Amino acid sequence: MSEPSKPQGRKFQLPEHLKVYKDVWVIVEQERGQVHSVSLELLGEARKLADKLGVAVGAVVLGEAGPDLERICGDAFAYGADVVYRVADPVLKDYRTDPYCRVMTDVVNAYKPEIVLLGATTLGRDLAGAIATTLATGLTADCTELDIYMENRSLAATRPTFGGTLLCTIQTLAYRPQMATVRPRVMAMPERDDSRTGRVVDVFPALAEDSVITKVLSFIADRERNEAQLAFADIIVSGGKGLGKPENLKLVFDLAAVLGGEVGVTRPLIQAGWATADRQVGQTGKTVRPKLYIAAGISGAIQHRVGMEKSDLILAINTDKNAPIFDFAHLGIVGDALKILPALTDAFSRRLS
Ligand code: FAD
Repeated sequence: MSEPSKPQGRKFQLPEHLKVYKDVWVIVEQERGQVHSVSLELLGEARKLADKLGVAVGAVVLGEAGPDLERICGDAFAYGADVVYRVADPVLKDYRTDPYCRVMTDVVNAYKPEIVLLGATTLGRDLAGAIATTLATGLTADCTELDIYMENRSLAATRPTFGGTLLCTIQTLAYRPQMATVRPRVMAMPERDDSRTGRVVDVFPALAEDSVITKVLSFIADRERNEAQLAFADIIVSGGKGLGKPENLKLVFDLAAVLGGEVGVTRPLIQAGWATADRQVGQTGKTVRPKLYIAAGISGAIQHRVGMEKSDLILAINTDKNAPIFDFAHLGIVGDALKILPALTDAFSRRLS
């Protein structure tokens, strides 16, 4: 990681009572025994931050006692944790803000981490806000980059601002822990290393089901809602306003089908009702990191770019050779997407059949 330029607050001296806060933590998100991949990505990022600070990586694993929880603790070590804080309690079986927040604030107050990271998922956003508010500390949401200002050892949390036109770097100087959420696929997945082990700290929370007013009545999996699974697709073909009319989006679906990929779109297409919101890529949509991202008729506005620029290979198709997307695409075709998309579909279907 490179040192961010122009650090602010570099002369700030941490008050003595906050110097006891040490280590970089990740709250591992799991539902029904499934770890959310963003937590593993964050363990890789926590490792880099902790190595810079010369401290340990802690993973907090919460849930009901059992083999799933044990496996998740092993996963946490394999992806970079030195210490796992295992919080097993029947009340923590399903996520609910109140008991999770209560436990986390107790654990943070007891073990005093200097940085706490969570995924910017529905669950992570909810929990991070609740913890930060209860602890009265700073939280930077939806970060795209994390680093350490070595001058004052503070977390430099970078995120888009002003509608994505600027990137700002935020520090929490006078409060601990420093908290941040990061969207899935923004950080690279670290290599799994099954030879890694570490220390397990068992935490026994004082929780009673009677004291929790929210009850989980049933569970509806995301998959059952039939939404596009863009965040985890290896190949995405996306269409923008350059497609001209809604019927032409079919050309994008055809190419995605041949390549076994997903379909993404820009925000104007959602606003015009061409596609459902789960297909929007960008700052106010999904962040994606596929192996191949094909952008057809997309200008490459910053709000779209921040959601897809970390794709391994970006192929842009645009009639305007000066379109901003060509500034960061790896491959570009200057031409009419309405002709090039069917030609690619035809070529790939012959090659892949
Ligand atoms: P345009 O910018 O209109 O680009 C169309 C492109 O198609 C042009 O470059 C043109 O040269 C090309 N073209 C025209 N005809 C053809 C053809 N036949 N073949 C090939 N190319 C052709 N946008 C997002 O996508 N995601 C977001 O999450 C998002 N969030 C936003 C949040 C805020 C707060 C704001 C203010 C905006 C946001 N936007 C978002 C909108 C964003 O600013 C852009 O307006 C949008 O990304 C542009 O979409 P586009 O590329 O489809 O359209």
